[in-house]
Amino acid sequence: MPHFTIKNRFQKRSELYEDILTRDILRDVSLRITGRPDFTVDFDNDGYNKGRLATLEYQGTIIYISFSEFEIRSRNSFFQSFPSALVRYHQETSTNKRICFYFLPPNGNIQTDYFIFMYRLMKTAGTEFLNEADHLTTPITPFNSVADIIALRDLNRSRNTGNASTYVTVNENDTLQIYGKTYGANKYETTLLCLAIYEITQYEMELYEIQEGNLRLLPALARQVIIARGVTVITSDLTLEQEEYEANDSLRSPTYTYNLLEKLGDKKCVLCDCEIPQIIQGAHIWPVVSIKRANNINQDRKLQYAIDGDNGIWLCNNHHKLFDINMLLITDDGQIKYKTNIEENHEDYICDVTSNHQIPNQILTQSFVEYLDKRNRLLDESRYSFIE
Ligand SMILES: [Zn+2]
Repeated sequence: MPHFTIKNRFQKRSELYEDILTRDILRDVSLRITGRPDFTVDFDNDGYNKGRLATLEYQGTIIYISFSEFEIRSRNSFFQSFPSALVRYHQETSTNKRICFYFLPPNGNIQTDYFIFMYRLMKTAGTEFLNEADHLTTPITPFNSVADIIALRDLNRSRNTGNASTYVTVNENDTLQIYGKTYGANKYETTLLCLAIYEITQYEMELYEIQEGNLRLLPALARQVIIARGVTVITSDLTLEQEEYEANDSLRSPTYTYNLLEKLGDKKCVLCDCEIPQIIQGAHIWPVVSIKRANNINQDRKLQYAIDGDNGIWLCNNHHKLFDINMLLITDDGQIKYKTNIEENHEDYICDVTSNHQIPNQILTQSFVEYLDKRNRLLDESRYSFIE
């Protein structure tokens, strides 16, 4: 006979079990999974918060069932239980296992763009929805590619500025990198995104835990499960950033990359629109070598300048190099100039490959312009011409 184990989250107050997981609901779940209306139930009280989770054992298979929240206080609260359930499912040692999600009758709109995005991530991560047809007007489709995830995520992001906490990109070594914040609700989204992408990517994966102040790592179980999938997890704290600043001029600083993704969006050369992430890098406006040489600034402040999202743009390899050797210059109002009195065919090449002649206004913040001033004060602008 199907046997349910109800995890303790539902049992914190004794009435909750009766209110939420009624026998009618359990019968419905059992019917949908096993085809049988009869079942036995007991409780698991080991003190963990297991994320609105029940398990069902039947014919040698263990099925993890995560139940939706009733109250839609915020979009994050609705999804905070599921990733914990997914983590527990991955920790299950039996190979005969399934992960399912069951909609309890909702109290609010559960079909916003963000909700649909999250359902699709859940399905991509291997989740079966037991009763989606009863609650959603269109079926949930899993993502086929990481590019689809990024594209839809950006669509959501433009309508919800400031809500983004996780970014996905590919670096020059063809490694897929996930940059995630790890506090509050962000940790749930980061965990789910990581486990969903793992199912569909061919790339090596790195997860960067972006720290702010004393905020913590991902929850230990989630971290273990992600590492067990072969993902390299790197914590970006100030010690690591300091080492990166000293050894490599912050070129591979995770926090710098995170800050640029947050300010500029996905990698795209600002001078030629190239979007091939493997050949695009964060280019410092005020170069780190100059920051290091600056007088009267303490080390902590210097590090902040080196990893500031306002101190950078995305450039492709060619434009990064041309910018670094000052064959290109950005004026304080964001126009692009090139160095004259060089070989004519070199001038022609630079003008040909530089299709954009102006840095977009939203990049030209006050801090950005201050960094430009620090850079340009060493250059003679009269030796540069506007690109025709
Ligand atoms: Zn370029």
